[in-house]
Amino acid sequence: MSNRSTRALDLFDISHTYGDVRAVDQLSLHVDEGEVICLLGPSGCGKSTVLRLAAGLEVLQHGRVAMQERLVADGALGQSLPPELRGVGLVFQDFALFPHLTVARNVAFGLARLDAGARTARIEEVLDQVDMRDYADAYPHALSGGQQQRIALARALAPQPAVLLLDEPFSGLDARLREQIRDDTLHVLKRSRTATLMVTHDPEEAMFMADRIYLMQSGRVVQSGSPDAIYHRPVSPFVARFFTATNDLAGIVVAGAVQSPLGVLPAPGHAEGAAVQILIRPESIHLVAPGGGDGTSRIVPALVEEVRFLGNSKLLVVRLASGENRSLTLRVRHAGRHLPELGSQILLQLDPADALIFPESREGSDQYRRASTEIPDLSAG
Ligand code: ADP
Repeated sequence: MSNRSTRALDLFDISHTYGDVRAVDQLSLHVDEGEVICLLGPSGCGKSTVLRLAAGLEVLQHGRVAMQERLVADGALGQSLPPELRGVGLVFQDFALFPHLTVARNVAFGLARLDAGARTARIEEVLDQVDMRDYADAYPHALSGGQQQRIALARALAPQPAVLLLDEPFSGLDARLREQIRDDTLHVLKRSRTATLMVTHDPEEAMFMADRIYLMQSGRVVQSGSPDAIYHRPVSPFVARFFTATNDLAGIVVAGAVQSPLGVLPAPGHAEGAAVQILIRPESIHLVAPGGGDGTSRIVPALVEEVRFLGNSKLLVVRLASGENRSLTLRVRHAGRHLPELGSQILLQLDPADALIFPESREGSDQYRRASTEIPDLSAG
C-alpha cells in the first residue's frame, strides 16, 4: 500500500460490561495521525468507557487495542499495557491539574525522561503553543477556567503522545469562552498533528472539531463519517434527530416519490407502496416573498403562531393555512433579519432534496404526526 497515513489508534471489536450493563458493544474505530476524531452520543451511551479502554484506565474485557500498530491490550489474552506505557495524553473535564505545582511543573510532569535543559525547552515550547508562557510560575488556582484548560492541554501534549484522549474537555467552561477555547484547541491540535480522540455529547462541538465523527447509541457506533456526511445523510431518524429537532411527517411511496404537505418528495431506494417517515429540519423550510420561490417545489401558506428570537436566527411555530393539512404545525428556523409578526400569513417552501426519508418504524401510524419534540432551546451552547 502506498501513500498510507499512519495509524495512531485502533480499537478492534471492543466490548465492556459493568455488572449487567453492556456499556460498549462490539465497537471498532481508528484514528490516523493528524486526525481529530469525535466520539459523540447521548449521556450514558458508553463514550467515556471507550476512552478509558483506549487509555488503559479500564481493563479490556473483549477485543483489542493497538497504538501506532502495536498491540497494547488484548481482551482474549488478558493482556493490557498500563496507561503510562501507552503513550497517551489525557485531558478530562475537570482538567485535574496538580494544585500544589506551578504551571511549569504541571507541564513537566510527563517529561521526567528528558534532561533538565531539554525539559525546560519543551515546557517553553508547549506553553508557547497554548499562549501561556507568561504564566509558567503561576499556580492553577490563580488561573481562569480557560487558562486551566490550556495548561491541561499543554501538559498532555508535552510528552508528544501518540494519541491524545479528551473527555468532554470544554464542558466545564461557560458558553462564550467555550467557543474561543475550542477554536484555539483545534489550532493547537492541527498544528502539532496530534492524533486526537475526543468525547463529547454536544453535536455542534463535534461538527466543529472533528475530521470524522463516530456517533454512538447504546454502546454501539450507529454511524461514522465526516460531519457533513453524518449531518446531511443520516442513516436513521435517531442520527438525524441527534443534531436538530425535526418536523416528523409520514407518507406512502407512489411512483418513487411521496406526497407531503410541503410538496412531492423524491424517495429513491424506497419500495413502491412503502410507508415512510419524513423528517424535515426547521432550517430546511424557507420563507419566500409573495411571487417568490425558486419554482422547484410547492409554496405553502402558513400562519405564524409563535416566534422565538435566537439572536442570529428565529424559530417560528407555524400552522399550515390551506389544503387538507391546514391543522399541521411545523417548526421553521428563519435566518433573515425580518421578524414575521404573530398571526401573520407567510409563505413556505421546502427544497425536496432536504427532506430526510426513512422506512416507517413499526409503531406510530398517524398520517401526519406533530413535530417530534418540544421546541428545543436552540440558543444553548
Ligand atoms: P457516556 O460517557 O456516554 O456518558 P459511560 O461510558 O460513562 O457513558 O457509561 C456507559 C454506561 O455504563 C452507563 O449506563 C453508565 O451508567 C455505566 N457505567 C459507567 N461507568 C460505570 C462504573 N464504573 N460502574 C458501573 N456502571 C458504569
